[in-house]
Amino acid sequence: MKMEESTLEIKSLKTIKEGQAEICLKTDKVFYNPVQEFNRDLSIAVLSVFTEEFIAEKLALKQKKTQNVNSNINNDNNQIPVTILEALSATGLRSIRYAKEVPNISKIIANDLSKDAVNTIQENIIHNNVQNIIETSHDDACMLMYKHKHPMERFTVIDLDPYGCPSIFLDSAVQSVQDGGLLLVTATDMAVLAGNSPETCYSKYGAISLKTKCCHEMALRILLQCIESHANRYGRYTVPMLSISADFYIRVFVKVYSGAIHCKKTTSKLSMVYQCVGCDNITLQPLGGFKDNPTERNPGQMKAYLPTGPAVGERCTNCNQKHHLGGPIWSAPIHDEVFVSKVLTHVQEHPDLFGTAKRLDGVLSMVREELMDAPLYYILDKMFGRVHCETMPMLVMRLEADPVASHILSQDTKTVIDLSERADANPVSRRDGRLRFQFNPTPYWGPGSRAAINVGDDKMSKAIKNQNKHKNKERRQGKREHSPRSDEETRKIHAKTDDENI
Ligand SMILES: [Zn+2]
Repeated sequence: MKMEESTLEIKSLKTIKEGQAEICLKTDKVFYNPVQEFNRDLSIAVLSVFTEEFIAEKLALKQKKTQNVNSNINNDNNQIPVTILEALSATGLRSIRYAKEVPNISKIIANDLSKDAVNTIQENIIHNNVQNIIETSHDDACMLMYKHKHPMERFTVIDLDPYGCPSIFLDSAVQSVQDGGLLLVTATDMAVLAGNSPETCYSKYGAISLKTKCCHEMALRILLQCIESHANRYGRYTVPMLSISADFYIRVFVKVYSGAIHCKKTTSKLSMVYQCVGCDNITLQPLGGFKDNPTERNPGQMKAYLPTGPAVGERCTNCNQKHHLGGPIWSAPIHDEVFVSKVLTHVQEHPDLFGTAKRLDGVLSMVREELMDAPLYYILDKMFGRVHCETMPMLVMRLEADPVASHILSQDTKTVIDLSERADANPVSRRDGRLRFQFNPTPYWGPGSRAAINVGDDKMSKAIKNQNKHKNKERRQGKREHSPRSDEETRKIHAKTDDENI
């Protein structure tokens, strides 16, 4: 193995170090993106918390089942295997980092369709000495996942980080994750998801995207509903743990469970989105509802129902314009607050483990501050722009603290507002196109220097003495042969001298 390592180092084009992994690349054909370090760090933080929880849950379940059998399974993590599939592995960097940095992993499969990529992964597995955990696979990602859809063959974690749209992998992925397992999905086709091409978004994700200031959150919610719809086809459903938009991509972490009854709740987690074409006001129209329906036999029974609509009138109540219709989007919470807090705590307790610890800390803190029950949002500059007003700073908008402003603004307007054009607003001079403004400054613009009437002879002779001083100096130094401007200046000074002598 030592022989192989040294050969690898000689041949490698470049070496990449990230986290505890070191990757040698022999060819430029294998894709490595350094900007995604944050994505990988975040995934490692999430998986570290997830695997610990997953093992504890499964152990508790196992213990419950074997209550009468005397066993010591309590602290034996080996009894709960944790397997990860990295379906589109490229360099293998992510798998190698998972193997070295996420505790309690039993096995990782690093798959890629490219033979070159698989060879690189294999070499790097040996280079990083993780052959006991990682296996390589040279296969079509979907085919590989379909081979693992049997409940006994499923993975605990599947990580999908494709270049572009992940939707073609979702059908196989949702079938191949264990119950309570985690699916990690990245999407980088932001133009499609953010409303530049709503029809393409529909063909790929089954939802219409809209151009709005909150398009990145909407992109997350479109991806989440897309994963859910794939899962529902197989009697499975998802629970989002963390969803973020960063740099040029979005990334979601969802748990996948089986349960046909829970699939009935899906429509109550989805909404269509009405967006006013005038003022961008957003109104959600839920696709379904789910309410308590207790009976004598079953007091905890719940029932699905159809909500009524539409949620908006024909015209917007704010600006009298019509609406666009987008969605469906995932309108239920996109994070699990408790889980996010645990991941944040993990990062804060181990900042040395992550190259991007500061950013992780910031992003996760912000996620925790989000309002979980208020999908989408508005941006002040757009709202103020619509009414042609200067934008207020965000903090000033919080008016409750300012009794004067809040009182003034709480009054009904007593002035009659007339927005028709006033005839006298366009004065005759302007209408006739008269020359109303001054000329633009020309060279030597300005009042000029003060007339030196009482200049004494001494001073004047000094001025004459200094004529061409620079020019002569430069000529001596061979810098400049001739300057017409200097002659011009000379003439001016002569003229001035003559005038003043008179
Ligand atoms: Zn409107």
